[in-house]
Amino acid sequence: MIEVQKASKQFGELNALHEVDWSVQEGEWWGIIGPNGSGKSTLLRLLSGTEQASSGEVLIRGKAASSYERKQLSQMLAVLQQDGLPPVHYPVKDVLEMGRYPFQNWLGQELGNDPEDLIEGIMDKLDLRLLAKRPLDELSGGQRQRVALGQVMVQQPQILLLDEPTTYLDLRYQHQFMELVGNWRKESGITVIAVLHDLNLAAQFCDKLLVLQDGQVTGSGTPQEMLTAEHIRRVYGVEPVIV
Ligand code: ADP
Ligand code: MG
Repeated sequence: MIEVQKASKQFGELNALHEVDWSVQEGEWWGIIGPNGSGKSTLLRLLSGTEQASSGEVLIRGKAASSYERKQLSQMLAVLQQDGLPPVHYPVKDVLEMGRYPFQNWLGQELGNDPEDLIEGIMDKLDLRLLAKRPLDELSGGQRQRVALGQVMVQQPQILLLDEPTTYLDLRYQHQFMELVGNWRKESGITVIAVLHDLNLAAQFCDKLLVLQDGQVTGSGTPQEMLTAEHIRRVYGVEPVIV
């Protein structure tokens, strides 16, 4: 699904990423972990085509991410940021429908789905039905992030990129959010890549982890392989706390 080959990204003198090799199979859930400034968000931006690698390759389905037309790429891939949606005064259902706008003119039929049914189904899955008419800016952070997830689900992407999606959520909502993503993945076979701060969440929900430090990959594999005391100590420079 995704092949990253010796990808580097420089900002002036700074090597934000250095010769990153990584390969993601369809349907996998990857977590990207590593300290602040280790290049996690930069790597996501290379995947989403918002930035181009200085050297190396970033291929999605065998084609350079940066060579896709915006429209094509947004059919395939959706991005959710940590702060989700701006607190606008629109009803939840309208916000979900907005996820559909870029697709209506040129993709409506291909999807073979009535957007109305799709949106109703998503509201059920995310437990948003009772909130459908409530304005977004009156919801709690956890509810708002659920709407943000709904808006990307409406796009029916094949790849979901999440950048620290649970940062502003309390523990219960962090788990709820990750579980909702997990359910969606099970149902749809979507490929998920999530930058995560919380190593417990990463261990609990991801199949595989990519670990970055100063723009370089220090390892990739199962959470069990990656989250050894020795590796955490080396990458984060702290003693791991086992809970
Ligand atoms: P992370 O998401 O792991 O915290 P980032 O990918 O945001 O790290 O950043 C990696 C490094 O690249 C940091 O040192 C950051 O300051 C730098 N960086 C990121 N984006 C830019 C940019 N547009 N211009 C200059 N430096 C940047
Ligand atoms: Mg970041």
